Amino acid sequence: RNRERSIVSVMRERLPRPLVEMLRGAGELAQSLGYGVYAVGGFVRDLLLARPNMDLDLVVEGDGIAFARAFAEQHNARVKAHHKFKTAVVIFPDNTRIDVATARLEYYERPAALPTVQLSSIKMDLYRRDFTVNALAVNLTPGSFGTLVDFFGAQRDIKGRNIRVLHSLSFVEDPTRILRAVRFERRFEFQIGGQTLRLIKNALQLNLFNRLSGARIFHELQLIMEEEHPTDCLKRLQELKVLQAIHPLFQLTAKRIDILEELEKVRTLYTLLYVEPPVTGWKLFFQGLTMNMERNEAAQLLRRLGVAPREEREHLSTREMVGKALGKLMQWREGVSRPSDIYFALERLPLEGVLFLMAKSRKDAVRKHISQYLTTWRFHTLEVSGTDLKQLGLSPGPDYTRILRRILAAAIDGEAPGREDQLAMAARLVKMR
Ligand code: ATP
Repeated sequence: RNRERSIVSVMRERLPRPLVEMLRGAGELAQSLGYGVYAVGGFVRDLLLARPNMDLDLVVEGDGIAFARAFAEQHNARVKAHHKFKTAVVIFPDNTRIDVATARLEYYERPAALPTVQLSSIKMDLYRRDFTVNALAVNLTPGSFGTLVDFFGAQRDIKGRNIRVLHSLSFVEDPTRILRAVRFERRFEFQIGGQTLRLIKNALQLNLFNRLSGARIFHELQLIMEEEHPTDCLKRLQELKVLQAIHPLFQLTAKRIDILEELEKVRTLYTLLYVEPPVTGWKLFFQGLTMNMERNEAAQLLRRLGVAPREEREHLSTREMVGKALGKLMQWREGVSRPSDIYFALERLPLEGVLFLMAKSRKDAVRKHISQYLTTWRFHTLEVSGTDLKQLGLSPGPDYTRILRRILAAAIDGEAPGREDQLAMAARLVKMR
């Protein structure tokens, strides 16, 4: 049933030349060790979909760790090995990584008196994966270089834009695959296949989520919230009744959907403008998902998801600070309040809280100021310090903080732009004290 075809020309066309050469090198190395090696998973899927993907996963028929060591040596890279799982990560000097796994020869027990079948190890490796579209491999071994290995109809499903599991116990084996199915469906604008949809409904009827650890669900939710359009995924999950299966409080309302969509836009804007610090998807979107919940309800939901106590506290306090800041910002009127007021209203908020405020405040003037806060005000550093105050003869005490913050406000408001002005201001304030 394996539908083999050569995709060398596709690889040449869609992958950077050095990468193709590296893949060839991997195949030659494996052969010299007496192994076979394949590129697998998302990398191959995205190659066929013509979507850039630099996350390379290799599967070795042989000793994956030994292969990884030899490969790393050729490329001046390091290896982190996990002996328990026979996997390794090759880490290149520029910090890019390649995952290497070992495909074991396994014997597939069949019921009754039928003979045990020995599956080729790459087939067995692919069979354990979540969906057909992720169960593709490209042979890298010389002689077969560029041969696509497709045991489960992945090419057909990519053409037909279908998300399909490999067997009917897939969701029983691992219910988090339900979240993955939706994530891939929305990302690629595919359709979850009819039979797969029925299996999802079955899994939900069996209450499989109840037995699943919060951390595993949360991990998949985090991945969803790093997608470009998490709201579509969440809406689909609600439609399939997955959210309520995770926790009864996990609910999208019209208002929440509204804000989630606004959050997507704000995040896109932010990531187009800056790189640092990066936004953490879940911290942003959970502000929207717990909107209009009681504090203890939000806490319950986060606990169900195994969120660490420290992160739970951070989330809850951000919610509170956002509420207070929103009150202040709504009173904000051009010409009356000053940039420093905004600065002090926002300074203690984590980035995700600031972005949430931006999504919440539909008033252009307020948005403009939050965006100014992000572009310039938040980087304002004082050019005077406590040492300067000490030299001006200020005695120890709370006046230090008070005076420095007065100067900071003046700097942000453009009244004391350089060190000269700030020092002069410091001298005045120390004298006046
Ligand atoms: P992405 O583009 O989001 O990185 P990916 O397909 O590379 O997608 P990963 O989460 O990095 O996804 O997983 C790598 C591969 O491991 C997948 O292609 C999939 O075949 C397999 N995999 C991951 N999670 C599961 C799971 N829960 N069950 C079965 N296979 C899985």
